[in-house]
Formats: sequence, structure tokens, C-alpha cells
Amino acid sequence: MVSTADIDSSITGTNSANGPPLISLRGVRKRYGGAGRGSAAHGNQPPAVEVLHGIDLDIHAGEFVAIVGASGSGKSTLMHLLGCLDRPSAGTYHFNGHDVASLDADALAWLRREAFGFVFQGYHLVATDSASENVQVPAVYAGLPEAGRAARAAALLTRLGMEDKLHHRPSQLSGGQQQRVSIARALMNGGRIILADEPTGALDSKSGAQVMALLRELAAAGHTVILITHDRGVAAQARRVIEIRDGCIVADNAGEAAQVTARSDTAVLPALPMLPALPALQIPGRTHADGGATLLTDIREAARTAWRGMRLNRVRTGLTLLGIIIGVASVIVMLAVGEGARQRVMAQMGTLGTTIMYLGSRPPPTGGPAGQLTPEDLEAIAVLPSIHSVMPVIGDPITVRRGNAERQLYVFAASEEMPAVHHWQVAQGRYYTAAEDRNLAPLVVLGHKAREHFFAGMANPLGQQLLIGNSPFEVIGVMAERGADSGAQDYDNMVFIPYQAGRARVYQAQTQPDYVVVQAASSAQVHAAEAAMHALLLARHGGREDFSIGNAAARLQAEVATRRSMSMMLGLIAAVSLLVGGIGVMNVMLMTVRERTREIGIRMAAGARQRDILRQFLTEATMVTVMGGAVGLAAGLLVGAALIAAGVPTVFSVSAMAGAFGCAVATGLVFGYMPARTAARLDPVVALAGE
Ligand code: ADP
Ligand code: MG
Repeated sequence: MVSTADIDSSITGTNSANGPPLISLRGVRKRYGGAGRGSAAHGNQPPAVEVLHGIDLDIHAGEFVAIVGASGSGKSTLMHLLGCLDRPSAGTYHFNGHDVASLDADALAWLRREAFGFVFQGYHLVATDSASENVQVPAVYAGLPEAGRAARAAALLTRLGMEDKLHHRPSQLSGGQQQRVSIARALMNGGRIILADEPTGALDSKSGAQVMALLRELAAAGHTVILITHDRGVAAQARRVIEIRDGCIVADNAGEAAQVTARSDTAVLPALPMLPALPALQIPGRTHADGGATLLTDIREAARTAWRGMRLNRVRTGLTLLGIIIGVASVIVMLAVGEGARQRVMAQMGTLGTTIMYLGSRPPPTGGPAGQLTPEDLEAIAVLPSIHSVMPVIGDPITVRRGNAERQLYVFAASEEMPAVHHWQVAQGRYYTAAEDRNLAPLVVLGHKAREHFFAGMANPLGQQLLIGNSPFEVIGVMAERGADSGAQDYDNMVFIPYQAGRARVYQAQTQPDYVVVQAASSAQVHAAEAAMHALLLARHGGREDFSIGNAAARLQAEVATRRSMSMMLGLIAAVSLLVGGIGVMNVMLMTVRERTREIGIRMAAGARQRDILRQFLTEATMVTVMGGAVGLAAGLLVGAALIAAGVPTVFSVSAMAGAFGCAVATGLVFGYMPARTAARLDPVVALAGE
């Protein structure tokens, strides 16, 4: 197969008119339109136009050739073929003896990068880059380190009299200066073959003469120069003049030119600063040393270009960023709010339990007196298999006194199971036992606030006495602080006494419990327990429904389910907004690609491979989304902080934040890929002709 080392060996060589030609075209034709290369014949395509009708042409290394012809005669088309920017429709192109048709896109990019330097009539500089950066473009794709690149660009521009314009943008330069920048760029990678298409066409005569002098000097210094012009006066400055008319070569003074051996017609330049010795060059992709840029430099370069583009299009970038920011921030906030709500319900469930039911008596709907819940009823319920425990409760505000201090407190009389039923711990001392309950022991356990009322500043209230109603009770424990999550009742502000002692000493008038807390054996059995209890009581009460069962557990479970679906809804909405952000990225990327078609063409002419272009645009998309994601993250945290300050339960989760950020970047990559691929697949000639 073709070795680029072979190709390389002679493109730097000196004039070898007698050796094999560097460039050899045979029967080259170029057609536009119709069923062209690779395209299917669509009905509405214009008929094919043949622009070049069988060109035979040999050019040797070191020659200075002018191709002259009227406008529309096919000169530019020929130049694009010579420079491997386009492929012939028919005929063969041998470069240094190798058939160019056998090279793939990457190899052609390599050839453009290493062998050719292009100078265009319209300069084709990247508008957003400085002179120095424009000159460096080909070296970027050759993988030259940045410092070396900048130094060489400065040396070249200095050599061309542009030392004080290194950091000017093209718009700040005159036409002649821009053309000198583009010549410097053509020389950046060595410029073994300079292809200049009407280089003086847009210049005033003085600048044009300067550019021509430069080209003559380059030819004299050993570069192969192919100059394309419609101007015979300009063409006459070359050693060999080829005339093209209507796509055919009609004159060629190659014979005379070959006799010109001495190149003393112009003062030979002091040696142009050359690249450090190039490594042995191989066809890209076939060996490891493909001469391309390394991944890291490439991404750095792409990031810099992206950043510049984003700064130049601030409004548009800002709007795209806004889309992503809103997307990311809303995902984070919505998930945090959803999680906050869920955790609050969970906390309530922790307080009240998912297995709890409330049993009370009431007048039956059919009329008649309210029922009585007898101790026998409760015992019968307690032995049901789906029931874990039965806890009768009597509670009322009662005057509680200690010395001169007195206060109305809710006195909660229940069995020793109260802490277990309410998932509650004793903070100090202990709770009373079942035996103490049976024995009517006058013991009291204090809620946190109740303790503060009576024993503020006292380290140990245990053993002290309280008068509840008119009976003395001994303090044996203090419950842990329950805080705000204890639901409607303020459990912290209660005192707890054994059920039997309460009935005997405080609530003597009470014939039955105020209500009974019934615990199902498990949360899955709540409904079964409720049904069983209902059936049992109905039977025991002679068919009269003079009792009521409140199922807090079922209500909570339903609420949890509702919250869960609400969280999912919120998440979905947020995901949609992320998607919209992603589409925004795609939209902007597509616009960017369209706007920068010319730039893509310039980069391709300078030797960028498809993957370089792909990487550049993907980097841009990623940068936008990474920035948007980061700002969105911050915005989400700020909004969440505001919500927390406003009392909305909000719980941030690192995984949600990482997920939102990751999704944003992934969306950018996914939606950025299509435009990036579009850019990478552009035909170099088509891209160069772009707006
Ligand atoms: P020159 O550079 O000598 O002025 P060109 O090579 O640019 O001429 O163009 C030669 C002819 O080919 C012109 O008639 C032009 O209209 C035609 N042509 C050039 N490019 C295209 C294209 N992409 N599609 C169709 N026709 C084209
Ligand atoms: Mg032209």
C-alpha cells in the first residue's frame, strides 16, 4: 500500500524535472450536478455539467507554475482537485507516484496538512482568530505543541513584515495584510506545495505586487508554487505558464520551463524558519504515528475555539445556557421538594406508625345510645391473629400541681405499651411496667415540655411528686423530645400515667376508654385487621355498629402513594425541561455549524480530519452544557435554600444533583452529536464555498 514516507521523500525535494512528476493528472474530468459521486439520481437534480474535460498535467517538485484562464474556465475546480479538496469524476491523480483515489478522507487530510499550503483569493481566515492563531491552525492539526506553534507563527509573520499585527483579527487588517497572513498559514507546516487561487485578485496593485514577490521568493527557495490567475501579466511571473480554456489545457510552456535550471531570478530569501524535522510520516490510521494532534491538545484547542465562539455570540449562548440552567435547576429543586415531602410523610409514619388504628364508641347510624367498649371487647380483639396490641387511652386536660406551680396539662392514661405504639423513647428514668399498671401504681412519666414547666433547672426530677387532680404521683421518667413532627397533638406537653391508676385516681367518672389504639400485626395486615375487628365487634354488640374504627395507617399509606406519584410527575416535568434544553443545544449547534461552514472548510484545507471537526463541535456542545449544568446546579441550590428558608420541606440529594448534571451533559452530547457529525462530513470544497 501507499506509504506516506515515500510520498514525503520527494515533496520536500528540489527541482527534479527529469525524475517522476510530483503531481500527475491523466484524463481528469470534473462534473457537477446530475448523478454525481455517491449521490443517488434524484428527479429534481439539475443536469450534470462537465467543467473539466480530460486534463493531462505533470508538475514536478520545485516548479513555479501559473495556470491562467478566463473566469469560469475551471481553474478553481482544477486547484481543488490538485489540493485534494475534491476528487475527480473521472481520470487519475497520482501524487508522487501514488494514486490519490486510494486514499481515504483521513489520508487526504494528512496530505493537505503536510504537503499543501492554500492561499485563496478571499484569504479565508477564521474571523474570530487573531493573525497568529490563524497561522497556527495547520500546526494544531499536525499536533505541534503550543509554544512551538506560536513561536513559528510569530517568526513567519515577522518574516512577512507583520510582526506588529500578531494579535490583530482579520477585520483589523488590510487585504494585503490578510493575504500575507494566509501565506504564512500556508507555510506553517512547511508549505511544500503552495496552491494560490487568484491570490492577488482582491488586492490593490501594490499589495498584489508584494504578494507576487513573496510567491517568487518562495519558489526560489524551493517550494513548489502553483499560481492560479486570470491575469496574464501575473502569470508571466511564473517560470511555466499553463493556459486553460473551457476546461481544457490549451497551452503549456513546460518544455521551455524545464530548461530553466538556475533559480537566480530573485534574491533568495534567508532560509524560512522551518518546522523541526518532521517525524517519519505514515498514512493516518494505518500506524500509530499518524502525525495528528493528540487528544489533549485537540480538546484544549477545541475548548478555546468554543469559548471564543460563545463569547462572540453572547446573547445566543446566554439563551441556550438559560434553557439548560432552568432544566438542571428545576430537576434539582423538584426532586428536592418531592423528597422533602416524602420524608415528612415518612416522619409522620414514624410517629404514628403504619400499623395503627383507632377504635372508639359512638351512637350507631341507625339511632340509639352510643356503645360501650368493655374490657372483654378489648381482650377479644387482642387475641385476633392480625392484631398485635390493644391500648386503651383516657386523656383530658387536668390541673397538675407542684408546690405553687400549677398548670392544665393533658394527662394521658394508657398501658405500658405507649412508647412502643408511638415509636417513642424514654430520655431519662424509665417507663412504668405492666405489673405497676395492674397494681394501680401512682407513677408519672413527663413529656419534654411538661418537665420544663415543673422542673426547669433541675437536673434530676426523678422521685419528685406531682399532684394530678388531687392525687400524688411520683415522677419516674421523662420522654425524649418529640419536636414539631408529632402531628396535631403536642405530645411533648403531656404527662403519662398508667391506665388503671388513671381510672382509679384521676378519671373515676370514666366508664370506658376515650379511644383505643389498636396495632395491626404488620402494615400489610392493616386492612385485614380492621375487617376482623369490625366483624368481631359487630357480633359482640348484637349487630349494632355503635363503634368506629379510624384507620390512620391506611390514610398514611395512601398519602405516601400520592406523594410518590407526585414526585414522579415533578421529575417527569423536570426531565422534559432538560430535554427542551438539549434541543436548544442542538438548535444552537446547528446554527453554529451553518454559520461556520466556511471556517470548517478552512480547517479542512489546513488538514483537519473529520474526527478533529467532530471533536471540536462536540467539545463546544459539552462546554455549553457543562457550564449550563454547573450554573443550574448553583441556581437549584439557591432556590432550594430559599424554599427551606420559607419553610418548605426540601431535601437535596447528591445523586439527584449528579444525575441532573450528568443528564444535562449527556443531552448536550447526544443533541450536539448530530450537528457535529454534519459539520465533520462536510465536503471540504462545499464547506469552503459556504457563507
Ligand atoms: P474559475 O475558477 O476558472 O473561474 P471555476 O472552476 O470556479 O472557474 O468554475 C468553472 C465552472 O464550473 C463555472 O462555470 C462554474 O459555474 C462551475 N462550477 C463551479 N463549481 C460548481 C459547483 N459546485 N456546482 C456546479 N457548478 C460549478
Ligand atoms: Mg476561480
